Amino acid sequence: MIIQIKENATLDDLDRFIRDIWVECCGHLSAFEIDGVSYEREPDDDFGWGEPAKSTNHTLKQVLTTGMIFNYEYDFGSTTEIMVKVLDHYSAQKQNEKVVILSRNNPPQFACSICGNQKATWINAFRIYDEDLFWCEECVNKLEEGELEAYENDVCFLPITNSPRMGVCGYEGSDIYPEQFEPDIPK
Ligand SMILES: [Zn+2]
Ligand SMILES: [Zn+2]
Repeated sequence: MIIQIKENATLDDLDRFIRDIWVECCGHLSAFEIDGVSYEREPDDDFGWGEPAKSTNHTLKQVLTTGMIFNYEYDFGSTTEIMVKVLDHYSAQKQNEKVVILSRNNPPQFACSICGNQKATWINAFRIYDEDLFWCEECVNKLEEGELEAYENDVCFLPITNSPRMGVCGYEGSDIYPEQFEPDIPK
């Protein structure tokens, strides 16, 4: 995904955007790691080794430079790690939103692992390292009707999503952004 974000937006704003489009499931903690410094929403001064964490109320202009690569982590248990690269710093056309999506991948498509021919719509979160990972509606229905006994105790279905958090914790996709990106048509 490529986004354009205002220089006076904060790391909080970026955190909010990443949560909204890609990772939010049940309000886990998150942090940025930029140039060896950790930035968190509510940094804890009393605990930890090395550099104390700073607050995500810093603006992007204060902490980022062009070419910089930094990391974002959501959920310190089942962590989703995202690498962010600052491609450029430039004067853009005036925009109302802090964040504008410039480009994004199409939703991934997977064939059902069970029947092998239908388009899968579910991922079995209990089997993420196994071959029976993806499920189509028809095979899920068969399972519910008791036709696929071998799998019955071993399923936890989550929707297939256009997100690096697909199949993790209770992630069910974004409530705000569609899976398929549609660019703005310039007027
Ligand atoms: Zn969760
Ligand atoms: Zn199937």
